Amino acid sequence: MNNHNQGNTPMPENPGQAGGKESNPADEIYSDPKILEHYALLEEIGIFTRIDKLNKQIRNYHDLVTGGLDIINRTSLDAIMDAAVFRISDHFLPSFITFLWKPIQTRDEITIKSYQNYRPADLGIKLHSIVPFEAFFERHPKPVNFPLLNAELGDQNVLDILKRLNPEIIIPIVGGFGLYGIILMGHKMLGDDFSTEEIIFIEQLMAFVTQAIMNCLNYQHSLRDVKTGLYNHGFFIHRLSEEISRTRRSNITSSVIVLDVDKFKNFNDAFGHLAGDKVLEALAITLKQTVRSEDIPSRFGGEEFTMLLPDTGNEAAWSVSERLRNAVAMMKVPWDPPLPQVTISLGIFSFNQQEQLNAEQVIQRADAALYISKQGGRNRSTAWNPGMNYDKSFGGVL
Ligand code: GH3
Ligand code: MG
Ligand code: MG
Repeated sequence: MNNHNQGNTPMPENPGQAGGKESNPADEIYSDPKILEHYALLEEIGIFTRIDKLNKQIRNYHDLVTGGLDIINRTSLDAIMDAAVFRISDHFLPSFITFLWKPIQTRDEITIKSYQNYRPADLGIKLHSIVPFEAFFERHPKPVNFPLLNAELGDQNVLDILKRLNPEIIIPIVGGFGLYGIILMGHKMLGDDFSTEEIIFIEQLMAFVTQAIMNCLNYQHSLRDVKTGLYNHGFFIHRLSEEISRTRRSNITSSVIVLDVDKFKNFNDAFGHLAGDKVLEALAITLKQTVRSEDIPSRFGGEEFTMLLPDTGNEAAWSVSERLRNAVAMMKVPWDPPLPQVTISLGIFSFNQQEQLNAEQVIQRADAALYISKQGGRNRSTAWNPGMNYDKSFGGVL
């Protein structure tokens, strides 16, 4: 040790610099002969107990910051929830932890994920919305215990569902867009009720968890079209560019379908814009339900949609296109009075490493094929072929 101090009194050193060993101020006090002279007095006034308590607090804060940073750096909701449950498990075992959140900002739908014994579990929770909690958490934007919620929520159905679940603490995920979700935590499996320190720990850790969940949801929302919940134009172009690079690197073919609602201006004129919006929403659901989870259906703008089909050749893309066309032609749109059926026209373009096109050129080719579908009478699919030169005067997606 490089000891500059030749006297009898050990000088306090900076933590971490004492010959590679961390020096603890408390240890220095315990070993300081001058202080030891007054040991009995110091003990009597409780100084050592106080130091132990402070040391414990420092350790807890260290754990909290390390755990919080770990949680906040995760980039998927699953990873955030797993990390939160793992950090809680360092302290106690709750009977369950349930996360409920709105995956699409503008839709009153929720996704639920529960954990029991630190592992994902299906608790069969029958909640379908977080709207009943909104007014309550506007008044109390902090973790609350169940009795407070029970006294003030005012929705007996929801309370009955929660009572069966028996949560001890309810934590809101609140931010710029209001209530994003809630987290329910059951009672402690072992030991007594939650101590004050444990409640403080939960509140502090959950501040990181709710922030991480909100960041993740805000990011996901930024990729989506608000009206339909499909991916938006920007994300589609990004994924298409990635897919073009992927097909160049490996020997695969992928496809793009561009589709447009037929005579939609007439439809709006006849039945109104709100009915038109409802059609677009139903169309988005139909698109999602008709393709694989790895496909990327997006709203390109207005009543135009695009679909990226990774690792899908021209023939398979043709079948998808026809499946979509038929599904839309049979689609039911809930509206009073009942609406007539709408149809779509589609254009398909498939690309592999032989093509040296960028995202815009790929879309232009699918677009040129869509133009032929429109010209041919609408409600049909057309695959691009080299005879179809893109007509620049036609000016982009239909
Ligand atoms: P075509 O078969 O040639 O595609 O005819 P079209 O009438 O569909 O084409 P046009 O481009 O003339 O009109 C598109 C219409 O789509 C006009 C616009 O009002 C409607 N539209 C675009 N976006 C929305 C929307 O978000 N909601 C509603 N209700 N209508 C929309
Ligand atoms: Mg149209
Ligand atoms: Mg159009």
